Amino acid sequence: MVERGRFVIIRLILAVIIFYLVYRLAQEVFSPKGRVQREYPGTPAPSHGEDLVRDPCCGVYIPVSQAERLELQGEMHYFCSRECMEKYRTRG
Ligand SMILES: [Zn+2]
Repeated sequence: MVERGRFVIIRLILAVIIFYLVYRLAQEVFSPKGRVQREYPGTPAPSHGEDLVRDPCCGVYIPVSQAERLELQGEMHYFCSRECMEKYRTRG
């Protein structure tokens, strides 16, 4: 019965190894620390292939999706903020 005893020990060791690996994997997946490290705080998400438009009031470039739009005489103007839009409109 020596062979059978060895087999049981091998199975036990395998079970421990598998349990350990699953435990480590779960820790990495659910750990909030690991997630934070992968992000880059302070930098906005890059907008892939998005056009930049120039604010004619202050000269800043903004992605189209974030720009304030104003149509004047059939021409579209883009601004970084509502303030700039109002300034540009009142200025003429
Ligand atoms: Zn502006």
